[in-house]
Amino acid sequence: MKCPKCDFDNLSDTRFCGNCGSSLYRSEQAAVPPAETLRMPLKELATGNIFARRYEVIEELGKGGMGRVYKVFDKKIKEKVALKLLRLEISSDEETVERFSNELKYARKIIHKNVCRMFDLGEEEGTHYITMEYVSGEDLKSVIRMMGRMSPGQAVSITRQICEGLAEAHKLGVVHRDLKPQNIMIDREGKARIMDFGIARSLKAKGITDGGIIIGTPEYMSPEQVEGKEIDQRADFYALGVILYEMLTGKVPFEGDTPLSIAVKHKTEMPQDPRKINAQVPVDLSLLILKCLEKEKKKRPQSAEEVLSQLSQIEQEVPAAEKVLPQRRPFTSREIKGAFGKRWGLIAALLFVAIAAGLAFIFLRKEKPALPPANKRIVVLPFENQGALEDEYFADGMTDEITARLSSISRLEVIARTSAYQYKKTSKTPQKIGDELSVGYILYGTVRWQKQPGGASKVRVTPSLPGQDLRRHTNLGESV
Ligand code: ADP
Ligand code: MG
Repeated sequence: MKCPKCDFDNLSDTRFCGNCGSSLYRSEQAAVPPAETLRMPLKELATGNIFARRYEVIEELGKGGMGRVYKVFDKKIKEKVALKLLRLEISSDEETVERFSNELKYARKIIHKNVCRMFDLGEEEGTHYITMEYVSGEDLKSVIRMMGRMSPGQAVSITRQICEGLAEAHKLGVVHRDLKPQNIMIDREGKARIMDFGIARSLKAKGITDGGIIIGTPEYMSPEQVEGKEIDQRADFYALGVILYEMLTGKVPFEGDTPLSIAVKHKTEMPQDPRKINAQVPVDLSLLILKCLEKEKKKRPQSAEEVLSQLSQIEQEVPAAEKVLPQRRPFTSREIKGAFGKRWGLIAALLFVAIAAGLAFIFLRKEKPALPPANKRIVVLPFENQGALEDEYFADGMTDEITARLSSISRLEVIARTSAYQYKKTSKTPQKIGDELSVGYILYGTVRWQKQPGGASKVRVTPSLPGQDLRRHTNLGESV
């Protein structure tokens, strides 16, 4: 059945859209009694909403298989937390909710610096939600996508942290079951945190169902999980092997056009030695990866301690300076810096100075008392690339660099990159975007990269910063 809202093709007997969660009642079925209509669970929240009389929505952080995740301010404990609204079909299934509550009991016991803390399962007007620690940074999938490949030192540093988190969880008898880069956050200091412990178990068993349908992300699934068999901590080491492989080579060991073809490869194909893709990978590290990727779980590492001791040995072979990720989101700008040398840094620095001066001008011009907090929020919209298509990444890199630099100003609250990118190529007006994100300031701009005859090139970056009412316009000049 096609969803009337997003056109997603659902199975005929589904009540809610698998993609956007909208109700799939047909018009003749729509005569739901009013009492029930009121109980219809919520599916989306907007910035500024107060949820459950306690959580003030700051922004949406992302959307996953279970629902949307929001950064919220918990007015009771006066702290930012993350709130995951469970999709309607999960929220409305009593058995699943019961499993969630059971799993959460165990997951909450894991208190470790490399594990995102789970707080609570709540219900508000028929919608179930989970609260957990808010973790700043980028998820590892985006980091890998932006960096391409990591150096062995960086990959080992992240793997060690993941493994330390796993060691604590396994000690308490909790297996993650859905370890994947999307569930690992890397903050600005290069610290890794595992998210969503125990949640996977609450949902239907992953792997191939009787009907041959794959549930879950097959790229990180162990052969036994693909088959829907009982799993233990060794399935987490298999997933860890896939993640380590991906960090070092930029690709997962088994790719395919369909989830089923990937699942079959996990069962039947031998992975290619990561050293064949990236010769920098030390032999011992490659052996550890291949050991984690063994089809038979008894041939894999048996405990997190075993992996950690191997990592300690490997760490002696990789240069110490590489062990920690460089500070402050360098992921996109790094490649660009390489390509454009010193000028890149200069352009970003000049722009930053111009923007900071513009902001100072607006702030200082305001009459006292100081601006209310909501007005100190700024969003940096993706800079529009007006040059050749292949220069798109330069515009994105410039946006990321400016976002990161502005985030270092303590008086400003800068909207997360993920929220800003939904407005890439938007036709919405600054006023509309300002309303949607509750920001006082919007920074946007254009980038035109022109190749000159003789090989030299010139870049023209034009930033604009509409004022607090989003009508007044401050011209920040151009950096050429
Ligand atoms: P998935 O794990 O399948 O990506 P989720 O619903 O768990 O889906 O999360 C969606 C996105 O929301 C994540 O990729 C991440 O960027 C963000 N996110 C989830 N939990 C948190 C959290 N506790 N703190 C910060 N961001 C989070
Ligand atoms: Mg997740």
